[in-house]
Amino acid sequence: MKPVIAIYPGSFDPLTNGHLDLIERGSKIFDQLIVAILRHPEKAPLFTLDERREMLESMTGRFKNVSVDTFDGLLVAYARSKGAGAVLRGIRAISDYEYELQMALMNRKLDRRLETVFMMPAEKYSYLSSRLVKEIFRHGGSVRGLVPKKVEERLHEKVMQNAKGKMQNGKARRPAGRR
Ligand code: ADP
Repeated sequence: MKPVIAIYPGSFDPLTNGHLDLIERGSKIFDQLIVAILRHPEKAPLFTLDERREMLESMTGRFKNVSVDTFDGLLVAYARSKGAGAVLRGIRAISDYEYELQMALMNRKLDRRLETVFMMPAEKYSYLSSRLVKEIFRHGGSVRGLVPKKVEERLHEKVMQNAKGKMQNGKARRPAGRR
């Protein structure tokens, strides 16, 4: 039988333990799993594409059949270019289902050979999202256990960087007479 290559697409801004849980599960059922970071020119992500890629690469290095890539445009076109036959997506709660079903059916319409496979994370990650992690962190809450240690460190660095940037901008914008 032909080896099955699957694509796991997402923003991964940032990578959470829920994503990692899914990557581990996917690596066990597919011959090859490509984690593909979507370049979203219309969204302003917290982490740059390179930062997200670097975090993903370092956290997935232990899975020998997992690689990290980036893509733009139609997922079906990208999957075809990689010789992939499956797309992996995560379902956390019923609320994910409607959107995911719509995407899966549209992708099937665009390429009927591409199958979407849904997997569920461990229960403890079923309420976890990158958006919530950013929100908790922004308001000073703890994200321990929700993201890998390395991501937590990067979040700290990012907040410091942003705060420094804001202070410098504030200084630069202050009228000359009030310095
Ligand atoms: P997107 O911006 O496309 O939602 P994400 O990076 O947030 O991208 O998610 C990519 C995929 O990972 C989606 O299928 C999403 O449902 C899934 N996912 C995100 N968080 C979790 C989690 N905690 N458990 C399982 N799947 C998840």
